[in-house]
Amino acid sequence: MTAKQFLVPICCAGFVVCGLLNGMPAFSQTMGAPPQSQVKALVGRLDLERYKATIKGLTQFGDRQQGTDRNRAALDWIEAQLKSYGCANTERIRYIYDAPAPQSRQSTRAAQAVEISSGEVVRGVGGSRLRGLVQPLPPNNDPAAQTDPSLRALNAGPVSSGPNEEVYCTKVGARHPDEMYIVGAHMDGRGFGEAADDDGSGTALVMELARVFSDPDVVTERSIRFALWNNEESGHVGSRAYVQQRASLQGRESPPGSGRYPEPRWLGMIQHDMMLWDHGMPGPDGTVSAEQRREADINIEFQSSAKFADQAMKLAFVFREANENYATDYPAAVGPHMSNTDSAEFMDYVPAISLRENERGMQIGAGWNPHYHQATDLFSSYSDKDFRLGLNAAQTTLGAVAQLAGASLKK
Ligand SMILES: [Zn+2]
Repeated sequence: MTAKQFLVPICCAGFVVCGLLNGMPAFSQTMGAPPQSQVKALVGRLDLERYKATIKGLTQFGDRQQGTDRNRAALDWIEAQLKSYGCANTERIRYIYDAPAPQSRQSTRAAQAVEISSGEVVRGVGGSRLRGLVQPLPPNNDPAAQTDPSLRALNAGPVSSGPNEEVYCTKVGARHPDEMYIVGAHMDGRGFGEAADDDGSGTALVMELARVFSDPDVVTERSIRFALWNNEESGHVGSRAYVQQRASLQGRESPPGSGRYPEPRWLGMIQHDMMLWDHGMPGPDGTVSAEQRREADINIEFQSSAKFADQAMKLAFVFREANENYATDYPAAVGPHMSNTDSAEFMDYVPAISLRENERGMQIGAGWNPHYHQATDLFSSYSDKDFRLGLNAAQTTLGAVAQLAGASLKK
């Protein structure tokens, strides 16, 4: 047994006890947790065809690039959907986005595939270590790379600086309305495709969870906020604005005596970014398999350098356990290199994790997804196996959050 094999069961068996011994984990768990049968019933309300339909709905707005009319139209559509689910009290964060000068319109040309030699240490983002065949893909900045003329026309609108917005809605906790979990994904995209995977897949996951938790017969003890960040692709501008504007409002009752908490105290932040594609490492010719790899899994990451790293690690293992209890098809793995997504803005305030199709540093960063930020990030580029991987991530998060927030079904 290697040290690594040994470590995992110890963590799994120990985290509940560790959490209690630490006094007060920022996220609450196990005590008063709903029975598995109730959580399972809730998870059963997720459905592959509905998940796909929500992704498809998002793709009608093209790549939803920040600062464009198509981005604003997508935001309005998302808000209308949330309201239609019964997540009625939607709110918007407003901030300013300063668009950079237009980038050169170059087509993407992948760098030569490089095989990392034995023993050579090459670092990727988030503290990761790259292994094997590496072929990072630069983002596509050329609208003409889109071969579908109607999609090219849809994605032609200009980017403008100025006021921008993002939307969230909240399931208010029946017993602890002053505490909440934040479940997020970014609704903006890039690359002049449909941003179906990055991040239509995460956005649709969060919307589907908002739908299930908003069912009239669902009660949660704690609050859950469903946030669709904007401007992630320009450096987490939207999620940073949220943190800057609202961190100091946590836990305040307003107006006093009303029982209303506009910003419940943050217990955990869970981000979803690129949920569909897990086809393995590029081959020696630099191409990636058209088929999903048989070992496909969901990657749950925390950041080992975060202020709340220890609690985020424990939160990640709560999600891994929820995956084992509730996900129908695919397993989940935990890693310490969360990076390059909105949860980074929260990780020094609250335990924060991300869920993805692959590890961001070692795998996506090495070119494992050939559609990443490309004109080919289209709904039609993914199979039902790919969509099912995203659905399994939804089952994982729904199961974990139902348990953490104390969800139950009214009789
Ligand atoms: Zn993304």
